[in-house]
Amino acid sequence: MTHSAAFALFLTTAGWLSAQPAAPQPSGAAVPAAPAPPPAHAPLPDDGVRVAVLGYHEFNEKESETAMRMHTSKFRKQMETIRQLGIPVVSMQDFLAWKHGSKTLPPHCIVITIDDGWRSVYTDAFAILKEFHYPFTLFLYKQYVDGGGKALTSDMVTEMEKAGAYIGCHSVTHPYPAVFRTHKKRGPADYEKFLRVEMGESKDFLASHFGVKIVTYAYPGGYITDEMLPLADEFGYTDLFTVIPGKVSRNTDSHRVMRYMILGNYDKVFEMATSFRESGAATSPAALAQTTPYPVSPDAGAVVNSRMPIIAADLSKVTDLNPATVIMKVAGFGEVPATFDPATKHLSWQVNRKLRQATCQVAVTWKDKAGKAPETPLRWAFQIDRNAEYLPDGD
Ligand SMILES: [Zn+2]
Repeated sequence: MTHSAAFALFLTTAGWLSAQPAAPQPSGAAVPAAPAPPPAHAPLPDDGVRVAVLGYHEFNEKESETAMRMHTSKFRKQMETIRQLGIPVVSMQDFLAWKHGSKTLPPHCIVITIDDGWRSVYTDAFAILKEFHYPFTLFLYKQYVDGGGKALTSDMVTEMEKAGAYIGCHSVTHPYPAVFRTHKKRGPADYEKFLRVEMGESKDFLASHFGVKIVTYAYPGGYITDEMLPLADEFGYTDLFTVIPGKVSRNTDSHRVMRYMILGNYDKVFEMATSFRESGAATSPAALAQTTPYPVSPDAGAVVNSRMPIIAADLSKVTDLNPATVIMKVAGFGEVPATFDPATKHLSWQVNRKLRQATCQVAVTWKDKAGKAPETPLRWAFQIDRNAEYLPDGD
């Protein structure tokens, strides 16, 4: 078979291309390489639909609210708000079918997901979700299923699953970035083994334990590394969810589906998630301006006219904060010697060398007194108006 015949055969057998005639080739030109088939995650064209995926954790009426814990009464109020706004809540199944082109959705929809597997999903949220007829997804991690204490039992999960709850995967041990780094330091073989357990064993466990098909994954803490993506495909995950807020469109990368983590102690995220006025503008300064879980300065998405601003975060709403663990990192500077006031829990740093990029990214990390890092990281970016303070090179 000649090269051109092989190419023609390829075009004929590849259904997705068969409607397109091959481009005429100038005589004597080399036969072009056969086009690669579309990758499994090739995004479909935008159909204009926007979906807000909400992420919740724990519910409790008595304990104080934190980023991860919401009063049950507030959760009910939020479900009521969704109903009043007339935004349909769709199931994960319908969301996936729409995302991959086999179903349509109304222009604006909401998907409800709940991470980790807290017992209060069953004791507090389940009745409310049933009352509103809202479908929901549980992202469970293996180690916490039947984990005792505040964890869901298998029976509770099964009961919710029978009532329509969709089950997705959230790893085996819920590792934080430090654990990833430890494995990475031990070399690629150890690192791959670690990722295979977290992403693969967890899926097998949930599938066999609950008798369901697992095709979705929520990255613990939203932490993603490049090495995870081929494994995601190999294990058959069609959609993987982050903690980066934003409306999902049909052409959103299925490896990084945006999610609004709805915080117990900061209502603006819910307000933003349920506002579709700026649909698709998740990365605009205006939308970014409201997405940090704690107040920061300069505001996320703000444009400042100084190259040496004071960068600050108000951590007064963080519960059980261990002041010794608070770290601020600024792109281009690394870890910076920020000052933390234990009385006000305000963290601030006076930039001491002119910011040269148009965007400045900041990350603030900490641990609580039990040594646990926050589920939702505090990361934001602001812009520097270069015209307002033009500084020639070498300054
Ligand atoms: Zn989690």
